[in-house]
Amino acid sequence: MGIFSDDEITEINRYQRSGMYHPLTCPNGHGTLVATPDGLLCPECEYRQTWVHAWIRNGNWDVRNR
Ligand SMILES: [Zn+2]
Repeated sequence: MGIFSDDEITEINRYQRSGMYHPLTCPNGHGTLVATPDGLLCPECEYRQTWVHAWIRNGNWDVRNR
């Protein structure tokens, strides 16, 4: 069982690409993190973030979902 469910991964990555908010990025100065079952990963280094705000995970960030 991963850190994030499939639905959460979908919502997080939609958030990351939405352009509606600043995306979650790598603290080492790299680009946008990518949600996977193992957490949010940096495409350019070993950084891994294992949490994300509930309102991003559950889709509440997207006012069109309400
Ligand atoms: Zn990085």
